[in-house]
Amino acid sequence: MTTPTIGVLALQGDVREHLRALGTLGVGALAVRRPSELEACDALVLPGGESTTMAKLARTFELFEPVRDRIKRGMPAFGTCAGMILLAERVEDGTADQETMGGLDITVRRNAFGRQVDSFEGDLAFAGLDSPVHALFIRAPWVEQVGEAVQVLATVTHGEAAGRIVAVRQDHLMATSFHPEVGADHRIHSLFVDLVKQS
Ligand code: GLN
Repeated sequence: MTTPTIGVLALQGDVREHLRALGTLGVGALAVRRPSELEACDALVLPGGESTTMAKLARTFELFEPVRDRIKRGMPAFGTCAGMILLAERVEDGTADQETMGGLDITVRRNAFGRQVDSFEGDLAFAGLDSPVHALFIRAPWVEQVGEAVQVLATVTHGEAAGRIVAVRQDHLMATSFHPEVGADHRIHSLFVDLVKQS
């Protein structure tokens, strides 16, 4: 693959930030709102936002099954925050009708860091990067349980949530609880681009 095209699911959430991050990395970046746009992509980013809303909109725009299908057939995908929830096989504290596209053998807990603390930030060591990333968490999920095939990429180091898993990879899928698309450090997107090029 020479220059891959990476889509960003553009139904709701922080789509622009992801498109901007990908744009700095020399890949094609495409907002995906319809099945034909998904077909034009080699990989997909699922942004932060609201996982239940995004899943419902994906149904309305007839993207839900196509995304699920492509993921099953090996399309690389990267989910951040709500996007991590959409890639999870199992969700705790979801709504009764919460649906996910799945693929990652993980259980996530929605809004896990406590309802009083809507957001916080901190520096995290991240597997594959030689210095910490500054991580921004906004009503973020954490990973409660991982299957055998899942590699843990980052955990929280300080405070009450210390030890909680906040970034994972399984084969062609990657996810973070936080928002690496915010700010100017695009090293995590760059890891995803490497994964896409290797696939
Ligand atoms: N709490 C949101 C959800 O459950 C995720 C928050 C985010 O993506 N910043 O979907």
